[in-house]
Formats: sequence, C-alpha cells, structure tokens
Amino acid sequence: MSKHVPTHDPQRRRFLTSSGALVLAAAGASATRTVMGQTRGNGAEIAIVGAGAAGTSLANRLANALDDANITVIDPRVTHIYQPGLTMVAATGWRADKVQEPASRYMPGDVRWLQESVVEYEPENNRVRTDAGTVVEYDYLLVATGVTLDFDRIEGMDPGLIGAHGIGCVYDHPDHAAATSRVIDRFVEEGGEGLFIQPPGAIKCAGAPFKISLLTEDRLRRAGTRDDSDLTFVAPTRGLFSQPDIDDFLKEQMPGPRGFSMAWEQELIGIEPEARRATLATHNGERTVDYDFIHVVPPMSPPDAVLESDLVWADGDFAGWLEVDRHTLQHRRYPNIFGVGDVIGTPIGKTAASVKDQVPIAVDNLLDVIADREPQSRYNGYTSCPLLTEMGRGILVEFDYSLDMVPSFNFISPYREHWVPWLLKDRMLQPAYQAMLRGRV
Ligand SMILES: Cc1cc2nc3c(=O)[nH]c(=O)nc-3n(C[C@H](O)[C@H](O)[C@H](O)COP(=O)(O)OP(=O)(O)OC[C@H]3O[C@@H](n4cnc5c(N)ncnc54)[C@H](O)[C@@H]3O)c2cc1C
Repeated sequence: MSKHVPTHDPQRRRFLTSSGALVLAAAGASATRTVMGQTRGNGAEIAIVGAGAAGTSLANRLANALDDANITVIDPRVTHIYQPGLTMVAATGWRADKVQEPASRYMPGDVRWLQESVVEYEPENNRVRTDAGTVVEYDYLLVATGVTLDFDRIEGMDPGLIGAHGIGCVYDHPDHAAATSRVIDRFVEEGGEGLFIQPPGAIKCAGAPFKISLLTEDRLRRAGTRDDSDLTFVAPTRGLFSQPDIDDFLKEQMPGPRGFSMAWEQELIGIEPEARRATLATHNGERTVDYDFIHVVPPMSPPDAVLESDLVWADGDFAGWLEVDRHTLQHRRYPNIFGVGDVIGTPIGKTAASVKDQVPIAVDNLLDVIADREPQSRYNGYTSCPLLTEMGRGILVEFDYSLDMVPSFNFISPYREHWVPWLLKDRMLQPAYQAMLRGRV
C-alpha cells in the first residue's frame, strides 16, 4: 500500500491526544472545552432532533454545559441501538441484545424528551412540527437525524426478507443482523455463489460492506468451503473507498488474494427472493445474477423531512444533505442551526468516531453563538473505522478531510493487518461509545 501519512500535520498532535480511536475516550480523556464549567444559557430554548449517537451526546453535553437553558430532544425511538456492533452480531456471533439498550438510560434527566417524529422544519419561523402535530419553537436547533435506509430503491426488496432466501443485511435492526448471521452460517457451511453489494451514494460506515465480504470469505476458507464458492463484489463506481491508501488496499486484496470477482460500475436494482436472483444495472443495460447468499446494502439518504426542508444543499456533491459549514458545523444560511452526525453534507465522516469529534465542536460553537461570538472550534473531518479483514484481525483506518491517514497508535501500522483493531472493535469501542453518549468524552 502507498502511504499518505502527513509528517508535519499540526492537527495531528491534537488528534493523538483527543481522539485515539475512541479508546483514550474510554479511559476518560477529553480534549474539549465545554464541560469544564457551566455557561449561562440565558433561558435559551434549544431543540435537538434525533437522539441517536449524535443527538444523545449533544443533549448530555449541553445539559452539562448550560445552567439555564431549556432543552427539548425529539425522537420517537425508545431503544438505543449501538450500530457499530451490528457487524459483530452479523459476522462474529455477538448476541443481538448486546447492541440494544433503553434510550432512557442515556437521556439526561433535565431535558424534555418528546417521543415524536419531526415532519416539517420551518427555519424561517424557528420551529419544527411533529407527526403528532406538536409545534416546537426554538432559539437554537441541532439536527442529528442520521440517515434513512432506502430498501425501496431495490425492486422486490423489503427489510422483512432479511434472514430468508439467502438474504443478509447488516445495516438494519439488530434482529435482522442476527438473522443475517444465521444466513451467513448456512452459506459458510455449504458454499456457493455469494453476492456482496456496495450501493451508490454516501452511506454510513462505508467499511461495513467490506467487513462482511472479507469476514465471510475468511470463514469459508476456514470451513473448507472456499473452493466451492464464487464471490462477487458489486461496486457502483471504480473507486471502493474514499481514503486512497485503503482504496488501493481493497483493490489489491479483493480481486487478488481474497479472490472476489469485481462487478465494477454496477448497481443492485432488483431482487427475486424465491428465485435467489438479483438484477444489476450496468452501462450496457440490465443483467441478472443467481446467488446462494446476497449481502444487500441499500442506498441511503437523509430522512424525508430534512430532504424536503430548506435546510439542505440544493445541488452539488451533497445535494439533499444538511447544508452546514464542514468545519464549524453551523448551518450556512441559518446561523442558529447546527448539524451533527450522518445527516450533514460533508465529504466524509458518517461514523460514530466522527460524531465523537463533531459533538464537542458543535456544542462549543453553539455556546459561542449564544454568547454572541463567532464560532471558534473547527472539525477537521476525522473519521475512523476498524476495517476487519479476517477473524481476529483488521486495519485501523483513520483519516480526515485531507484524506491523509492520521493514526492514533504509533505501535501499530495503519498499513498492516493486526489483532489490535479487532480487539478495539470487539472489546473497547462499545464502552467508549457509551461514554460518548453520556457526554463524558
Ligand atoms: C452496520 C454498521 C456498522 C457501523 N460501524 C461503525 C464503526 O465501526 N465505527 C464507527 O465509528 N461507526 C460505525 N457505524 C456508524 C455509526 O453507527 C453512525 O455513524 C452513527 O450512529 C451516526 O450517529 P447519528 O446520531 O448521526 O445517527 P443515528 O445514530 O442513526 O441516530 C439518528 C436518530 O435520529 C432519529 N430520527 C430520524 N428521523 C427523525 C425524525 N424525523 N424526527 C426525530 N428523530 C428522528 C432516529 O430515530 C435515530 O434515533 C456503523 C453503522 C452501521 C449501521
């Protein structure tokens, strides 16, 4: 692999001490300036839409940081899902209940939690409307709604099919990740035609489609059924990953030693579950492919209410995603609005690791705006993913807007498969994530 590690990057020192792939976080380290004392909220009304990784962490940090603000969190979901654990449920035998907890466990006591869905944003009137007809007026708004899984863009596909007819998908509900695990177990036992999908457009955890592909390939090998199997990876473009070194690695490994046939510039547009047949769109029209196992990854988009609002980029690379400044996370046209997490329109960063870096920055900058100051804190685009390449091993991929690798640990090379990234993913990231939800890191 060619290497893009910056040698004199001034951001890197901050990164080394503040992020450490969430693991320093687990140890309680914090490099942010918000939680040290309380700031006057001046009775501000703050609304947070979405209480997943980003919204819950925002709520806790703001509740800690402000002494007299009124915070309303809006999200109908009562179960918090630790999404990074879904890969472990599907591919390594974690139980589905390990990644589910009551959302109330992480909700600060002094916020108002409205268990409703926002259906309309009215940024010019500083209010949002919910599916129950509630109107929430705010002085400041934080949008953290994550993404929607667009299964309906694949004809014949429905999340209810996951676990049947050789269909797996790691991106949906934990029970479906567990059902995916059972389908993979059967495929590993018997071998056959395996089809692995990468959809077009931005997706959360862009590494997950590769993790499932590579771990399944490894398990076939260990089970002695690899020679009875043909594996195809379907990619919508000729690029596999935004970070160039990892792109090179995957392009070398997948068709090389790992033996995948690469279906470049093709897209899954239909599925016939009973017949176990997929339809792919290609530059030369449609073609059908039979499979024994398919890992479906649907295209993803912002939730409808965001998409239909005036809050999104009208065109360009991020059309439809929240129009925030990529460094301050402040909305570019509505200065009293910030965006955090998967819903924002920035070049990279739809991971919980990004959320960990973004939340303190959005909070700091919101406090600046409340105090009538210019936002000072800047997000550098940090994102991270333990790319699991085989059972027990992986690569810790960390990079930022520069697309240079910014490794946290100098004792492991980000260019070599190693047991440490596996250990991080298997044992250490979940407690670090939970500390992030509580606003402690
Ligand atoms: C299979 C998989 C593997 C992953 N692996 C990793 C990994 O290894 N490392 C990593 O760092 N990240 C990983 N991630 C990504 C990580 O989970 C997400 O980036 C992170 O959860 C994003 O946080 P968020 O708050 O933006 O969105 P979410 O956590 O998805 O939360 C969004 C919340 O908004 C709510 N919401 C949506 N619409 C509305 C509405 N209209 N009104 C009110 N509320 C609404 C939802 O109910 C939800 O609670 C993985 C994700 C998946 C699916």
